[in-house]
Amino acid sequence: MSQETEFYFPAPRLQKFCSQCATAITRRIPPGDNRERDLCEQCGAVHYQNPRLVVGTLPVWQNKVLLCLRAIEPRANTWTLPAGFMELAETISQGAERETQEEAGVRIELGGLYTVIDIPQVDQVHVYFLAQALGPELDPGPETIEARWYTLDEIPWDNLAFKSVSTTLKHYIHDLESGLFATRHYSLGITQN
Ligand SMILES: [Zn+2]
Repeated sequence: MSQETEFYFPAPRLQKFCSQCATAITRRIPPGDNRERDLCEQCGAVHYQNPRLVVGTLPVWQNKVLLCLRAIEPRANTWTLPAGFMELAETISQGAERETQEEAGVRIELGGLYTVIDIPQVDQVHVYFLAQALGPELDPGPETIEARWYTLDEIPWDNLAFKSVSTTLKHYIHDLESGLFATRHYSLGITQN
């Protein structure tokens, strides 16, 4: 039974073996540093770990938004905006477009950067772009059970995958009411704001 999480799986905080020489890792503060790191006492390698980016889109078609029913953990059988971990050698906009294509198979024109959401307790930053769909056709990939256009009053708030998804959707509804679309930074800390 996998443990449910509000977030994409965080990277493990502690590595076991050195990726350079396979010696068991020690965790301590290296000379000249001020944080604990994963160190190899054998070859001297310091294995730094840093937060990871999740990139995605809020695709819009007429007065509807696109949600995908997740086929995989974490949060299988809950609805998400198309998003996933950024890959090496791509930009955030390329990653957002790739994830949208992989999960929903929808043709989009990428709009502006829309929400940037810090989630420090799992070492992740989630970034969403607005996207205009070029048509309603959907062709979801294997990570998606079903992709569907929702009117705003149909959004399944009780069955959304991640807080970054509900935050981004609420931001969009707020902006539709005010008529002003602005990029916004959120922080989903331990103390909610
Ligand atoms: Zn080593």
